Amino acid sequence: MNKKPPQTIQDSQTGRERQGKNVGVVNLGCARNLVDAQAILGHLKRHGHHIVGIEDSEIAIINTCAFVEEAKKESIDTILDALELKKQGKLKKVIVAGCLAQRYGSQLAKEFKDIDAIVGVQQLQKDGVADQVSLTPAHFAYVKICESCYNQCSFCIIPKIKGKFVSRTAASILEEVKRLDERGVREIHIIGQDITAYGMDLYREKSLARLLKEIVAITKNIRWIRLLYTFPAHVTDELIEVIAREKKICKYIDMPIQHISDPLLKAMNRNITQKETLALIRKIRNRIPGASLRTTFIVGLPGETEENFYELLRLIKSARFEKVGVFVYSREEGTPAYQMADQVPEAVKKRRLDALMSAQQEISRSLQEKFIGRTLEVLVDEEQKGEQGVYLARSEYDAPEVDGIVYVRSGKRLSPGDFVKVRITDAYEYDLAGELA
Ligand code: SF4
Repeated sequence: MNKKPPQTIQDSQTGRERQGKNVGVVNLGCARNLVDAQAILGHLKRHGHHIVGIEDSEIAIINTCAFVEEAKKESIDTILDALELKKQGKLKKVIVAGCLAQRYGSQLAKEFKDIDAIVGVQQLQKDGVADQVSLTPAHFAYVKICESCYNQCSFCIIPKIKGKFVSRTAASILEEVKRLDERGVREIHIIGQDITAYGMDLYREKSLARLLKEIVAITKNIRWIRLLYTFPAHVTDELIEVIAREKKICKYIDMPIQHISDPLLKAMNRNITQKETLALIRKIRNRIPGASLRTTFIVGLPGETEENFYELLRLIKSARFEKVGVFVYSREEGTPAYQMADQVPEAVKKRRLDALMSAQQEISRSLQEKFIGRTLEVLVDEEQKGEQGVYLARSEYDAPEVDGIVYVRSGKRLSPGDFVKVRITDAYEYDLAGELA
């Protein structure tokens, strides 16, 4: 769900080979798409093509996102830009991949006759992802453990786009993690649409907790293991226990709750009630004190009344989540919610979004201020451009791209991938700043 700016992708790892074309990939959407783009690049390289920046390429591959209206628009704009380059003779071929291609392939082919190929989403192999071209900095990596989604939320098109839920075998995941560990990676992100459903197809039970214990046991260099995205109805006591006990697992729980009002939870098909959700939040808070709880909400699902909305506002004020994202409901063709009566007017959705965001801003500011004077361990991502001695880093409470940054002032030279202790001196709405402790 989290959006990132488009990235043009270039392989800096190997020299050019003799045959093959110059291919550039533009990746749109979330971290899961990034993993797919890595697989596309791996495939191209194995077939002798050269991975270059989009500006130097003969063939452009656009890995699209179609999660909501805004993402679709961005994908279309990017395709149009590439087709314009083709018209000017700067590109020879334009290939469209990913969710938009999967969902609207025939319309795209009809509408944009100059597209050379439409290839849809990358199917995850149960036995693993073959060699990928890494698109992340050398010190962190994403490990996708399952593809598509086990759930059928009424507003979401993903299960339709991605098809059947598939878990990777534990053996193939552990092999990948081992390789990353040997390469000196310091942080891994365990990703999937719903990683808490991991194993329900393959092993007939929720197997994430067991997998995490095995990952912890085989890793030496990897110091942080971050879990990206858990589904409230599938979070087990065993999983909470593993997160609480294992030092390497970040005390960071990304758990989209989406709503708290019972009629809305039911309409969304979230398989959980308000009472169960509140009990789960309490359990996490009690068992993992200090954990950073990130969640997302959707306002304006058809039928959401003012009363339903106020329940949500009250939850935001009382639960004091460390990080919150709010989305306005986007009416997606092909989803059950598309047909629902009582669509909420756009102006009402917008008012509700603003009310939640402004309530959260105050909470966020006061939670951030509590870090002042504390010493945090952070992972250095890079030196700030144009500011010698200032580094951009993250604590275990921050995922890359979506959360805040810790600005570190240091007289000592630091490198990406270093873990250092920082005394926090300043707090901003999302970011922190401090000096080497
Ligand atoms: S959990 Fe629901 S919202 Fe998230 S990807 Fe699955 S179906 Fe979509």
